[in-house]
Amino acid sequence: MVRRIVELKRDRNAVILAHNYQRPEVQDVADFTGDSLELSRLAASAKQDVIVFCGVRFMAETAAILCPEKRVLLPVLEAGCALADTATAMQVWRMRQLHPLAVVVAYVNTSAAVKAESDLCCTSGNAVEVVRSVEPGHPVIFVSDRNLGQYAARMTGRHVILWEGSCPTHAAVSAADIRRAKSKHPEAQVIAHPECRPEVLDLADHVAGTAGMLAYAAEQPPGTAVLVATDLGVIHRLRKENPDKAFFPATDYLVCPTMKLTTLEDVLRSLETMEPGITVEEAVRVNARRALDRMMAVRETSG
Ligand code: SF4
Repeated sequence: MVRRIVELKRDRNAVILAHNYQRPEVQDVADFTGDSLELSRLAASAKQDVIVFCGVRFMAETAAILCPEKRVLLPVLEAGCALADTATAMQVWRMRQLHPLAVVVAYVNTSAAVKAESDLCCTSGNAVEVVRSVEPGHPVIFVSDRNLGQYAARMTGRHVILWEGSCPTHAAVSAADIRRAKSKHPEAQVIAHPECRPEVLDLADHVAGTAGMLAYAAEQPPGTAVLVATDLGVIHRLRKENPDKAFFPATDYLVCPTMKLTTLEDVLRSLETMEPGITVEEAVRVNARRALDRMMAVRETSG
C-alpha cells in the first residue's frame, strides 16, 4: 500500500503532509510531519499541485486559505476538531458587539469562517507573543481554547476575555495524572501543551505546542527522560528524532479520536479519487487570510 501511495503521489504531483498527532504509519508515509502552522507554511510553499492533508478539517481549510490555486485533500471528511466546533462566526460577531474595543484573536483551531470574523490568528506556539502584540488598552477576546487563552493572559498580564471552549483530549489530563506519572518516573521532566488545564501547566517544566516540544527535547542531554502531556502521536516523532532519550505519555488516554481516523487506506483512496477536496468561499478566504497574515507578522517564539 505504501508503494502504491508513493506512485500515485508522483503521478498526481502531490505532497503528503501529516500532523504530529497522526497515526505512526501515516506520519511515516508523509513527506513532512509537523504542527498545523508548519504544515500550512509548507503547503503554501509547496511546488506540487495537490496537497494531501492528514489532519483535521480546520488544518486543511488553513491550507486552502493560504494556497487557493492548489487542490487540498482531507482523506477523511469527518475528521473534525471538537475544540474548533465550540465557536461559530455568529457567536464571535456577537461577542464583538458586547466588547467593541476588544481585539479578536482566533486560535488556528477554529473554522475558516471564525478566522474571517477575527482580527488576527495565533497558534499554541505564538499565542503569548500575539496577545502581547495587541495595543495596550484593548482587551483581547480569545477564541477558542479557554486554557490557552488563560495561559496567554497569565504570561502577558493582559486583559483576556476567555471563550468557553476546550480540547476534550488535553482538558482531560489532571494534576493527579501528572503526579502519578511522576511517581513512576521521578527523574523525568514534564512538557505540557498549553491546552492543558492551569493546574497541569503549573506542574510542567516546559509549556509548548508540539513544535516547541520537539525543539525542547532536541536540546536536552542524552539520557534525559521526559513525560509528555499532549496527544500520544507526538511521542512517535520524539522517539524517532531522539533515540538516546526516553519519552513517556503523561497518561494513556491522551489520544485525539479524530486525529486517528485517517488510515493508510484513506490516504490511498484520496489519491486515487482526488476527493474529498476542501475549499473555502472566496470572501471568507480573503478575510481569514488577512487574520493569518497578521499573525505571521508577529515574531514567533519557540514556546
Ligand atoms: S487534539 Fe484537541 S484541539 Fe487538537 S484536533 Fe483533537 S480535539 Fe482538536
